[in-house]
Amino acid sequence: MSIPKPIILGLKKSFGFGDRLGVAGAGHLVAASKYAFAPILAQQSIRELNRTQRTAEEVMEVAQTAIQDARYTGNWGADADHLKTSNDVELTSRAGYTFFTIDPSEHVRNDADKLGESTLRQEIHSQEKENLYGKNNTLDSLYLDRNYHISDTLTLSFDTESLYRAGVKYGRAIAHVDKMARWIGENNPGRLTEIEVSVDETDTPTSSLEHLFFALELQRRGVKVVSLAPRFTGDFEKGVDFKGNLQLFEESLNEHAAIAKKMGPYKLSLHSGSDKFTIYPIVGRICGELLHVKTAGTSYLEALRVILREDLPLFNEIARYSAGRFPVDRATYKLSVTDEDVARLSHKNIDDLEDFYLNQDKGRQLLHVTFGSVLTDGKRANGQTFKEALLENLEKHSQLHKQFLAAHFSKHLQLLSKG
Ligand SMILES: [Zn+2]
Repeated sequence: MSIPKPIILGLKKSFGFGDRLGVAGAGHLVAASKYAFAPILAQQSIRELNRTQRTAEEVMEVAQTAIQDARYTGNWGADADHLKTSNDVELTSRAGYTFFTIDPSEHVRNDADKLGESTLRQEIHSQEKENLYGKNNTLDSLYLDRNYHISDTLTLSFDTESLYRAGVKYGRAIAHVDKMARWIGENNPGRLTEIEVSVDETDTPTSSLEHLFFALELQRRGVKVVSLAPRFTGDFEKGVDFKGNLQLFEESLNEHAAIAKKMGPYKLSLHSGSDKFTIYPIVGRICGELLHVKTAGTSYLEALRVILREDLPLFNEIARYSAGRFPVDRATYKLSVTDEDVARLSHKNIDDLEDFYLNQDKGRQLLHVTFGSVLTDGKRANGQTFKEALLENLEKHSQLHKQFLAAHFSKHLQLLSKG
């Protein structure tokens, strides 16, 4: 069998299986083979590559080996996730990725919702002077006094304020996306690639009007995307279920999906998509084929479940180390578990460690956000690195590991298929 190659998946519903340890492929493929989601089997953000000291090539090769071992012959994609710079694009293009996720969040103005009128006008004025909206256009001339018929039940229009807020919030981010898209094209001559844009890691939810603005500007610039990840309403914390108002989420998802259908069509992408069991049936029903879901850290937690069952002393060392790292490692995440929760932790007072660490929110988040330290710096009392000890154990108990992953992701995909 020749080396399997990732391809573009287009407008077919898809599911991203991030694998930080590089040993989850077998389990992922068992689940992926049973459901109608096209799998993305190599997926790692630049941040994760740094935190796990892996290269884009390594991630790709590990996926290819798992695919060969499983004799999987279906289509699959490879996601170069959260790319921010031209260097990120070069690196991942060279490694053969097909799906490029552009993350322009550093160019998003998070305070746009709170700025006063004069500041908004000033910023739009300087954007226009830099020709952000084209040489002879103003934001008003492009988008004011128009009705956008999105669906039978949804018509949107901008007033000056909502238009300027959208422009201030996303104008420069979209310009950066345009540049990144060109770099992706230049770095992949003669290859089919697809582009996702993600603004999920920003402070405030993306409103329907802001989404429409984003889509209109991408269209005007001729940037074609296969999926877009808005920042949805509610909390999408790592490794735990959705938190927030379900009805609000459903209403806004309905509008986002209608905009994606009308303005693309493109898929809506759900980042931090692991373990959001409560909303999966809603998401599956509303999005249909126009859906992509990304997961990553939840596979690491299933690996730790194997360790907890098979080598409790190792698990205890990792848990203790993670608790020590938590106050620092939590920095880039939005979490419910607090420093005090972690400082108070004592294994003597926990009767069911597996339930606490791998089924309950606090324990899951503690282990989830410290993966980078565990996999790069962490060592056992005997000097062996945690990474080596983990891999040794998972190799020894590969059947159990595969079984846990298959069950865990079947639960994800089954609920997503329910709607
Ligand atoms: Zn993301």
